[in-house]
Amino acid sequence: MEPFVPKHGPRPAMVTPVCRYSPTGHQENDCAATAAWHVMWDGDRDHSFTCETHMDLIRRRWMYDDRHPVSPDCGMPGALWLYTEQRCGFPDESDRTDVATLAATLLAAGTETP
Ligand SMILES: [Zn+2]
Ligand SMILES: [Zn+2]
Repeated sequence: MEPFVPKHGPRPAMVTPVCRYSPTGHQENDCAATAAWHVMWDGDRDHSFTCETHMDLIRRRWMYDDRHPVSPDCGMPGALWLYTEQRCGFPDESDRTDVATLAATLLAAGTETP
């Protein structure tokens, strides 16, 4: 029997993050320029994307916890904020179980059910 793993549907195409700064606070007035920076506001979950111009404004006006240049992983579901590496990503990538091992585990689990 060939090894297999369950599959979800394909990932949606990556949407380029845009700046969400709005001078009025209303969504229809969003800047919407391509984001250059990913800003973490409170070290918990409140983060946002901003363009070069509004990053300058942020630095002059507000306190933030951390920032890094936007990278493809910033918009990926489940990507974590990696402070020391100055990016978003998946820190456990190296010890993630490989597909063959996972398939073997699933097959073994399957044979145990009555
Ligand atoms: Zn902007
Ligand atoms: Zn990021």
